[in-house]
Amino acid sequence: MVGEGRGTVAQTDVPTDVPLGNAGREQDTIFAIASGAGRAAIAVMRISGSRSQASLAALCGRVPAQRQARLRRLRDSDGATLDRGMVLWMPGPDSYTGEDSAELYLHGGRAVLDGVADALVSLGLRPADPGEFTRRAFLNGRMDLIEAEAVHDLVASETAEQRRQALRQLDGALGALYRGWVDRLRAVLAHQEALIDFPEEDLPDDVEAGIGGELDALAGEIAIHLADDRRGERLREGLTFAIVGPPNVGKSSLINALAERDVAIVSPLPGTTRDTLETRLVLGGVPVTLVDTAGLREAADAIEAEGVRRARACAAEADLVVAVIEAGITDQIEAHANTRVLRIANKIDLGGSVPCGAIGLSALTGEGLGALRRHLAEEARALIENGGSPPLTRARHRAALEEAASVLAEARMADWPELRAESLRLALRALGRVTGEVATEEILDLIFGQFCIGK
Ligand code: GDP
Repeated sequence: MVGEGRGTVAQTDVPTDVPLGNAGREQDTIFAIASGAGRAAIAVMRISGSRSQASLAALCGRVPAQRQARLRRLRDSDGATLDRGMVLWMPGPDSYTGEDSAELYLHGGRAVLDGVADALVSLGLRPADPGEFTRRAFLNGRMDLIEAEAVHDLVASETAEQRRQALRQLDGALGALYRGWVDRLRAVLAHQEALIDFPEEDLPDDVEAGIGGELDALAGEIAIHLADDRRGERLREGLTFAIVGPPNVGKSSLINALAERDVAIVSPLPGTTRDTLETRLVLGGVPVTLVDTAGLREAADAIEAEGVRRARACAAEADLVVAVIEAGITDQIEAHANTRVLRIANKIDLGGSVPCGAIGLSALTGEGLGALRRHLAEEARALIENGGSPPLTRARHRAALEEAASVLAEARMADWPELRAESLRLALRALGRVTGEVATEEILDLIFGQFCIGK
């Protein structure tokens, strides 16, 4: 899975913004509880760094053979028993971080964990920062930045589709796509530099045309990748469906029926929902936030007016508008600026007709609810489905790719070979920022700071 030194910034010929120093902290041996918070039967304590083996020996006497779990008694420096548990010794470089590492499978009690943590501190180890294990894996070339971000997404995944997308990214499909572009751009730059350095030499006639053709091809592929309607980002972040419509048509009843619990207050009094209310659901394997909005009508007071303003803003930004009316009352049908609208006629139990193209429903009796769930799941899947190529998953990648696309366009237009070469270098730099070949301390802090402690 991992190419030697892929994340090692110093090993690339793409210019580095700032040397990745921070030497002191990076030499520390770190530890953290990698399992979740709260009381648990077993908690996993993770250790990484050059003192891993010595600390394991100090804690449990005999260090087991590498990669073999063994039951050991763990003691503090006074010889008092802290716990009995499995321990694992994993020497680098074939470990997650690339460093010497160990794992302790402890009983999950607070006092056990605190005792072991104190013992590790007294052995000269320090608690890990958020994401520090994965940061080390990146800096030691065990994974590129895209794979590191996939680790974060996998830990954060709530639905099967999110898991699939994160695993695909972790397997390197997205990184391979971007690195492919970097390699091709490097080749173009090499040809361009040859044209500058050896203008009189016998370079084949078609070098210039070849550069133009390859730049067009690359620009086209990046443009297609960017024009994906944010599918990968939508899946990673989750979708938002806004339930809108006039007051009293049953919007709150609908959100409660879909959520199978009382999220919103249902009342025969119009204008009860004055602010937006949210609930999270999984539809078609996609996380969806359903937003119940204030009824769209002429507001009776300033608070309701603000609710209506928020409802309209929410509808405009939502991935899907679920527009609810009462069956048989056609003058309630409103036009929506949003391109994706699912129309629902509620209260069919009262006998009103369902307009063409709308789904008939009774939030009261539950009739039509199954069909509505299926429609919503189809809409959710349609919003994230992508024709098979690895999707763009983050705003960070999008910003860098947009910059690469724009300087590639400048390169194509450049009159001077030197100017074109400079634009190509800038494009390479932008692409390098996506995979982490070009990284600054600040970017890494920002990315890994979002991770959990222990990952
Ligand atoms: P909202 O203002 O659009 O959120 O509407 P509510 O969910 O608060 O419902 C308004 C009123 O309509 C309440 O008295 C509900 O009990 C009633 N209601 C909601 N859905 C149905 C339905 O499917 N059939 C009937 N008969 N009444 C409903």
